[in-house]
Amino acid sequence: MDFNSHADAIVRVAVGLVNELTPGERRGRAFPLPRELAAAAAEGLRTGYPNHREVTEGEAGELVEIAARLRRVFDAVATGDIDAAALQVNGLLEETRARPLLDRHDGEPWHLHFHGPGGTMAGDWAASCATGLAIVLGSEFHDRLGVCTAPHCDRVYVDVSRNGTRRFCGTACQNRVKTAAFRARGKVP
Ligand SMILES: [Zn+2]
Repeated sequence: MDFNSHADAIVRVAVGLVNELTPGERRGRAFPLPRELAAAAAEGLRTGYPNHREVTEGEAGELVEIAARLRRVFDAVATGDIDAAALQVNGLLEETRARPLLDRHDGEPWHLHFHGPGGTMAGDWAASCATGLAIVLGSEFHDRLGVCTAPHCDRVYVDVSRNGTRRFCGTACQNRVKTAAFRARGKVP
């Protein structure tokens, strides 16, 4: 039984927004802020909601700012600073005035939304993502948010593995590190 599939999807959206809309490094290469911001924002949202509608340029601009603030939560958890992560999430929850409300649309059954009162689409997502991360931080799985540990990659992830041993944003970085370790061993005299 899974009481929280909606929360899981929201956390995936937070991961998607950070990975598509914050500059840094990805899989060994520089990752500048994308030129096609609206497309990148839609892709980020579709990480959790595959059928999410297209995003306007204005909405994408707002989502970029939200993504930067969500990244701080992942960064804080990755360095073991859960207190800083909690403060950051609380700040977002207060600002967006996130509140639970049952909603039913698009043929879905009743499910919880965490929108702020009458905000923009981006503001609603800020409230939802903050709530999703709050659910993670407030649980025994509070250390399951992470930043890729491969060289030259700072993309983020949520670790849903059984024993919580994930260290990379994806298999590409995992393989990169394995290959490097293999080569390094080959050079040992
Ligand atoms: Zn990575």
